[in-house]
Amino acid sequence: MHIPLVDLKAQYHAHREQIDDAISSVIDESAFIGGEYVKLFEEQFAEFLGINNFVGCANGTDAIEIALRVLGIGRGDEVIVPAHTWISTSEAVTSVGATIVFADTLADTYTIDPVSVEGRITSRTKAIIPVHLYGCPCDMDSICSLAGKFDIKVIEDSAQAHGAIYRGKKVGTIGDAGTFSFYPGKNLGAYGDAGGMVFKREENAARARMMADHGRVGKHNHVIEGRNSRLDGLQAAILSAKLPNLEAWTLKRERVAARYAELLAPLELKLQKSPPESRHVHHIYAIQIEDRDATQNRMAARGIETGIHYPSALPFIKPYAHLNHIPKDFPVAHRVTSKVLSLPMYPELSDEQLHYIVNQLTEVMGLK
Ligand SMILES: *Cc1c(COP(=O)(O)O)cnc(C)c1O
Repeated sequence: MHIPLVDLKAQYHAHREQIDDAISSVIDESAFIGGEYVKLFEEQFAEFLGINNFVGCANGTDAIEIALRVLGIGRGDEVIVPAHTWISTSEAVTSVGATIVFADTLADTYTIDPVSVEGRITSRTKAIIPVHLYGCPCDMDSICSLAGKFDIKVIEDSAQAHGAIYRGKKVGTIGDAGTFSFYPGKNLGAYGDAGGMVFKREENAARARMMADHGRVGKHNHVIEGRNSRLDGLQAAILSAKLPNLEAWTLKRERVAARYAELLAPLELKLQKSPPESRHVHHIYAIQIEDRDATQNRMAARGIETGIHYPSALPFIKPYAHLNHIPKDFPVAHRVTSKVLSLPMYPELSDEQLHYIVNQLTEVMGLK
């Protein structure tokens, strides 16, 4: 049996008609840039989040960068980001000319550790970018209370957490800004690059919209110098066709995660926990395992694709070598990233496939 890490074809085959129709409508109407499909998806996703304004853009990395600029973060400012995340989170900080300050992560949830954040706050700290890693909400109460105390902006990187909930609120809508990616493999994925952002203040959303479209408000009315980071019509129409299914897909992901937890229990592995009063949307299902790389190879030989998110904490990868960090600066992120292995996770995984995966893992670990 071959089991991929993510199966985008299974989802397409189940919803082919709606998606194909959406694509031909956009082409029929030449609604490639801007227009009604973009507007419609923006309204629908705002409603999904329970907020007033969602601003589409080209991808989830631009979304973070534009949000930083809108909130006035730039040269001379420090921005705290987790050591354990995808590189977009830190890249965006450098792109606006600000300085990256990494913080360690929590041992149970792998999300940014508020105590580590507090220890790294200086008079130049202007923003924190908590990442809802693998779909797990961060400890937003602690982060927002630090932000309030030290007058720091909070930008929630929600690229992996569409629909995740923290104390009754969808993630992305808790801080000053929230950013999303619709990269094809994300829980809500386009068929190419796409992203977007939300802001607590309406005027910031308007500014982001302007910034992502050459700084203009009308066709030739440029108010500032902006950039081109637009959500295109094809991607918007595909996302609108998919959005009504997101809740059903999330319920299936929760079922898969619960089943994994049951089946894996005898192996006594360390699994990611979520904070109280929260909904984890299981973008990634990671186990911690000694001998991770060998396990991955042995699983591959048995037809099971696994992933590593991510093989190293960011402070230790080449682009950040100049910061001269050592493992004991981020002991938890270092330990967790050296052990995490992501098992196949997508809504369509069957019980038979889950049994097969866990049986193979049990054999590979020499427990059977
Ligand atoms: C995917 C991702 C992004 C960026 O998304 P792109 O759309 O690929 O630019 C940002 N942050 C995190 C944590 C991600 O997983």
